[in-house]
Amino acid sequence: MNYRQKLKNIKALVFDIDGVFSKYMLLDPDGRLLRTMNPKDGLAVRIAVEEGLKVGIITGSQEKSLIKRFAGLGVHDIYLNTRMSKLQHFQQFIEKYSLQPDEVLYMGDDLTDYYVMQAAGFAACPADAASEIKAIAHYISERPAAEGCVRDIIEQVLRVQGKWDNFLKRLKDSNKTDA
Ligand SMILES: [Mg+2]
Repeated sequence: MNYRQKLKNIKALVFDIDGVFSKYMLLDPDGRLLRTMNPKDGLAVRIAVEEGLKVGIITGSQEKSLIKRFAGLGVHDIYLNTRMSKLQHFQQFIEKYSLQPDEVLYMGDDLTDYYVMQAAGFAACPADAASEIKAIAHYISERPAAEGCVRDIIEQVLRVQGKWDNFLKRLKDSNKTDA
């Protein structure tokens, strides 16, 4: 089956953060980690939420600042500190929304994502994912971490579902002037 066909059934999108939304981390003098993130990925997440897809985050990180960032994009299912137990959190998420595994897309990049990649109906990864992850992905983005891989996969899901066009229409309507 063409991978785009499989994207038609997707109702939920779940993402890892580091190595997907972000790539390199900066360490500040107090030991805090700082990440750069791509605003085009952020907009895609927001559009997905507005168009009715469930979005979840499963990260090994413990930083609460991530909750703030993703809540700001409309994402409220954020599982922190999951490094060795991502699959359990993935199952919690799909049970919460009564989803079937084949309705859920997961994007991850490294070994700790392996079992979620296997469980998700659709597994995607960035171009620079670990080889073990690439080997089991249904789709490998041409974009690496933090350089639009999230935007790429979300845009494809929304396009095959007609939701990208819905957004463009809403955008056009809300930019109408009376002049
Ligand atoms: Mg990662």
